[in-house]
Amino acid sequence: MQAIERFADFLSRNRLKMTRERRVILDQVLGTRGHFDVDQLLAGFRRAGHPVSRATLYRNLPRLIEAGIIHKLEMAHGQARYELMVGRHHHDHLICTDCGLILEFESHDVERIQDEVCRRRGFVMTGHTHQIRGHCAACAGRRRRRRG
Ligand SMILES: [Zn+2]
Ligand SMILES: [Zn+2]
Ligand SMILES: [Zn+2]
Repeated sequence: MQAIERFADFLSRNRLKMTRERRVILDQVLGTRGHFDVDQLLAGFRRAGHPVSRATLYRNLPRLIEAGIIHKLEMAHGQARYELMVGRHHHDHLICTDCGLILEFESHDVERIQDEVCRRRGFVMTGHTHQIRGHCAACAGRRRRRRG
């Protein structure tokens, strides 16, 4: 299903309308690559000449997540990044809490073990988020040198 249809479908199931602002937010998200934050989206709205308030954006991000269009990454200090899920393969993340670097990974072993854990408990998985937080190679090296 296309992202637009998927979001329209989600909204109608929740008795919500595809307002102009929701459409602007969806278009901006669909046109943004990588792991973006709220400020990047707000700057994009301004560039496109369709300003959307921060409050409206924050109200609608959870709906895009629930509709399966974007995915939320929990960064250090309560910050968040988002990324587009539509048309992408499932992957998980390594997140550097020093510099904010995000590395993607796919591991068949990790996925298989998660499936196995669910199966053994009769748990029907509808999705998962696997994030490993820590220090990237460069930041870990800097920390080691600082310690001497
Ligand atoms: Zn995974
Ligand atoms: Zn780092
Ligand atoms: Zn990613």
